[in-house]
Amino acid sequence: MATVGKVIKCKAAVAWEANKPLVIEEIEVDVPHANEIRIKIIATGVCHTDLYHLFEGKHKDGFPVVLGHEGAGIVESVGPGVTEFQPGEKVIPLFISQCGECRFCQSPKTNQCVKGWANESPDVMSPKETRFTCKGRKVLQFLGTSTFSQYTVVNQIAVAKIDPSAPLDTVCLLGCGVCTGFGAAVNTAKVEPGSTCAVFGLGAVGLAAVMGCHSAGAKRIIAVDLNPDKFEKAKVFGATDFVNPNDHSEPISQVLSKMTNGGVDFSLECVGNVGVMRNALESCVQGWGVSVVVGWTDLHDVATRPIQLIGGRTWKGSYFGGFKGKHDVPQMVKAYLDKKVKLDEFITHRMPLESVNDAIDLMKNGKCIRTILSLE
Ligand code: NAD
Ligand code: ZN
Repeated sequence: MATVGKVIKCKAAVAWEANKPLVIEEIEVDVPHANEIRIKIIATGVCHTDLYHLFEGKHKDGFPVVLGHEGAGIVESVGPGVTEFQPGEKVIPLFISQCGECRFCQSPKTNQCVKGWANESPDVMSPKETRFTCKGRKVLQFLGTSTFSQYTVVNQIAVAKIDPSAPLDTVCLLGCGVCTGFGAAVNTAKVEPGSTCAVFGLGAVGLAAVMGCHSAGAKRIIAVDLNPDKFEKAKVFGATDFVNPNDHSEPISQVLSKMTNGGVDFSLECVGNVGVMRNALESCVQGWGVSVVVGWTDLHDVATRPIQLIGGRTWKGSYFGGFKGKHDVPQMVKAYLDKKVKLDEFITHRMPLESVNDAIDLMKNGKCIRTILSLE
């Protein structure tokens, strides 16, 4: 290919600073260094975590940055030492690596590999590591991925090779939201057949959690959201009951407790709000209820009374649904191709990268589930 071994100039949406619209710029993407892969991104979803970094995160060294972490693309070229990937292969970049060697990769109990970008800096690759520049400045790579760019460079331990027949403009959702919610129910909560579940927040992550509860055989799935427009979609993924906290004067945990004769077996918080996290825990039945924190926030402490835990409830968190990305994401792609998991139903809008700020507004205003941006 004409681009191999050369710096590529391409379009990317750059966030120069917090709380400002992204700007479509021409950026330079360096050649892949040792063990790295340069990927031509074909499509990307917009996830709430991108908005969190832009509007709420307050990481002082987090800009300028190229956001986006829910993408899919094609290998353009590989750096020295890469034997597992060839140009032309379809891939999904991963925000949690899987080196296969560290003590966490060796354990079946976690997906949190120590070798990725995340151990160096909480949200972005350090300027030293990034392969992006724009107007003479280093531009950071968000979550080590940066899929709001036509090309990106990712370490091979953070790339999943997927079925060549997979439609990239749909399976990109498995790069974050759908795996996150589905896995939080199936892998982290370990939802049981015949159980009663509650899912708080019905964005793509929460709807995927509903789908996970349903596929694990839950008999009742209570969908909770302040935005009643989301309930119809939740039904498509298997929700059986719908609760809008605004319709009730008592705490939502009491509402759910009354509906379920003492509380749900499993609850999943997919909002990113510490008050909702508490409500989700306290909606669980004493004795064995399990509540999983999936929503993302690092701004406030989360609290409950110790008696909630002493009484037998378990509080857990889930990162990327507990999936070990290199191994499990290709399996989820296969599950989609075999019609065992839904993806198309999450997509409410499609637009070009140039409209990225419209996609952000749609999510901010609760008007979409997922918008897919096309980068071609
Ligand atoms: P989204 O904005 O599309 O969905 C959030 C939903 O929560 C909306 O439907 C909104 O109406 C609802 N909501 C807001 N306040 C509520 C309340 N008080 N009670 C009930 N519902 C409420 O977001 P998304 O892309 O689905 O992401 C959901 C969360 O998951 C975000 O916090 C995101 O950062 C996080 N996330 C976590 C991981 C992880 O690995 N743990 C990965 C991806 C995303
Ligand atoms: Zn995400």
